[in-house]
Amino acid sequence: MKKTIKLFSVFLFSVLISFTFALSISAKELATPVLTARNTSDSIVISWKPVKGAQSYEVYKLNSDKKWVKKVSLNKRTFTDTIVKNGRAYNYKVRAVSKSGKSGYGKIKQVFLKAPKLRAITNTAGGVKLSWKNNPSAKIYRIYRKKDSTDYKLIAKVKGGKTTFVDKTAKNVVKYKYTISSQSGDYRSKANGEPLTINFVSKVKNLSAKNSPDGVTLRWSKISGAAGYVVYRKTSGASDWVKAATVKNAQKYVDKKTAYGKKNYYKVCAYVKSSNPGAFSDYVSVYSVNPKKKMVALTFDDGPYRPVTNKILDSLQKYNARATFFVVGSRLSTYSDCLERENKLGCEIACHTYNHKSLTSISESSIKKEISDTNSLVKKYTGQTVKLVRAPGGAVNTKVKNTVSYPLINWSVDTQDWKNRNADTTFANFRRSVKDGSIVLMHDLYTSTGNAASRAIAWLVNNGYQIVTVSEMMDAKGIKMQNGQLYTHG
Ligand code: ZN
Repeated sequence: MKKTIKLFSVFLFSVLISFTFALSISAKELATPVLTARNTSDSIVISWKPVKGAQSYEVYKLNSDKKWVKKVSLNKRTFTDTIVKNGRAYNYKVRAVSKSGKSGYGKIKQVFLKAPKLRAITNTAGGVKLSWKNNPSAKIYRIYRKKDSTDYKLIAKVKGGKTTFVDKTAKNVVKYKYTISSQSGDYRSKANGEPLTINFVSKVKNLSAKNSPDGVTLRWSKISGAAGYVVYRKTSGASDWVKAATVKNAQKYVDKKTAYGKKNYYKVCAYVKSSNPGAFSDYVSVYSVNPKKKMVALTFDDGPYRPVTNKILDSLQKYNARATFFVVGSRLSTYSDCLERENKLGCEIACHTYNHKSLTSISESSIKKEISDTNSLVKKYTGQTVKLVRAPGGAVNTKVKNTVSYPLINWSVDTQDWKNRNADTTFANFRRSVKDGSIVLMHDLYTSTGNAASRAIAWLVNNGYQIVTVSEMMDAKGIKMQNGQLYTHG
């Protein structure tokens, strides 16, 4: 009996040992779940790898009272928490459960960040410009880009608080998709769900606008790969740009609907898809001259001289007219105000040498210096690049023609104002010979000339003439002036 009891005790002991052993084994078998967390556009998703032996998982969330609250018991290995607010941190813990026991808690913290939404995408001169609404909780915005079938690549990190980014590395005529996410510390939002797409197109360069016998002719440099170009016009006094034309397969447009007699502005953009035009060119302006209407170029030499120049400018301004001033370089610093006003009114400023020396009797290098010294002052005071030269006295020989690298402009109507010094005689001389295409010679040095010019300007306007600059007239009449050639015209 004693033996039996002993044996039973041994048996009981072994059962106890093996039971305890079995318990401790099963508890050790449930590993602690390892959690990962990510943000979606409206939730935090917690997930974890399978825990061997687990039959379910318990998910807890730390509430605002710092107490862990059991949210759910799950068989699957993800938990989606939609009760989240932008910029807030949340703590979760998960443990595995089996019949025989429970694992330790795997813990994780996640900051919910809203996905920023790209609001606008445009082509600019500097590249593709993106904009979005600021997320005050974002310390960084991450910008991603892809082209064609490639994957998104992180192309920039932008400081929080900023709401725009210009992708300067975008290449001409390439189609890009962009998306964006917020970041705060190690936490990132989901990238914006709806990426914006754009065909980047470079800015149009070298736009020029000139009068021509058909209207205002615009030219610009080609953008390779562009499907076409859009030309916009704004007439002086108007507030809005107007679409003038869509041009395909050319870098030229002749605007026949320009507002003649007024200053018109132009700008051009290229496009691959018309919904994503490229950046506008720098705008250019032109005083549109009607090639089918009579025109005259009034020219004034030897100035500026404040009382007379201003009298002439007053008349030009009154009639919305322009003239060409062949200025003497040595006078420009004294009368820079006159020069500036000439420029402001759209007049052409041209060169009449620095010292008013006869070009036929000075050296070639002196000729060049007489001109360049004057032209750099004109540039300095007005920004205008001088395009024309008139030799003092109109004296031109072969040497002058070979040396002057500008068109040489003389005249077809000589008012003899410098000789007669009489407004009536000057005006009569003008009226006797003036016609369509005339270049009229006067000097803005004499009071009589100022008076005669005022009468001439009024007379021309009343008799249906356009009063234009020499360059405008030559352009409108289709005369391509050559350097070193002499023009008198009309
Ligand atoms: Zn002169």
